[in-house]
Amino acid sequence: MITLKGAEVSAKIRGQVEEALGQITAVPKLAIIRVGENPDDMSYERGATKKMENFGLRVQSYVYPADISDEAFKAAFTEINEDPDVTGILLLRPLPKQICEKDIEQMIDPAKDLDGISPVNIAKVFAGDSTGFAPCTAEAVIEVLKANEIPIEGKRVTIVGRSMVVGKPLAMLMVKENATVTICHTRTRDLKGTCRNAEILVAAAGRAKMLNREYVGQDAVVIDVGINVDENGKLCGDVDYETIQETASMATPVPGGVGAVTTAVLAKHLVRAVGGKR
Ligand code: NAP
Repeated sequence: MITLKGAEVSAKIRGQVEEALGQITAVPKLAIIRVGENPDDMSYERGATKKMENFGLRVQSYVYPADISDEAFKAAFTEINEDPDVTGILLLRPLPKQICEKDIEQMIDPAKDLDGISPVNIAKVFAGDSTGFAPCTAEAVIEVLKANEIPIEGKRVTIVGRSMVVGKPLAMLMVKENATVTICHTRTRDLKGTCRNAEILVAAAGRAKMLNREYVGQDAVVIDVGINVDENGKLCGDVDYETIQETASMATPVPGGVGAVTTAVLAKHLVRAVGGKR
């Protein structure tokens, strides 16, 4: 089995970002907005910050207390959203319950919405219109396949997970690439058989090592989006990586797979956001 390393895909995207940066004068700025001290958010924030700096981009974190009121957060958000120095926004979610996340999705300027949370960008993804921003993780899966020259057209693709962050938008991106797509979730009856039938299997369920070799067809390409902690407290994916060595032809590891590409896609979106309205 070949390991599909995220770092190699990220390096390719870095080349594209540098080329795009060479054609603009001002260095774009990413605003990362975090509410509270969730360790997962803080870890993602550190990763994204490092990536932006490595790619020669500007980044600033805006951090608010977990008990900030809906009104105060919306006022702060509006200021960032309207700041001409801010090129793009990454909002770490979920937000605390007292803040209406739906309102923020409506408020975010679609031209700065790098992670595709606004209804405008979601509609574009579903319409196959690539002028918007797709969620970075969903797009990262496509980047991994393309960077490794893995054909998507006509392939049977199974995606385990139907969230608005990964599963659903990824299904639409796959359809745009002319794949034949099946989406699985907790009510799927024959999960094993459906996964095993896939030529490209994408795991985005958030369940540590749930997909073992019994779920993987011979020579399938396996993309593991999951980020979980195993029984020993170690980071792991949704795929039981060690068990699929003989069945899968290629697979992304966790860590070191899709995660590294997600922040690279964020950087690519930031450079694309230069110039505003879309
Ligand atoms: P989510 O909102 O919790 O959605 C999980 C999806 O998986 C749901 O649709 C759920 O089905 C389905 N699912 C859960 N358990 C299942 C099972 N036993 N059998 C079949 N389907 C099952 O999660 P998410 O936000 O999409 O994230 C998924 C994973 O990706 C997480 O591990 C997350 O940490 C990771 N992630 C990684 C990145 C990255 O950059 N690599 C970015 C974002 C997320 P139902 O709809 O029926 O409940």
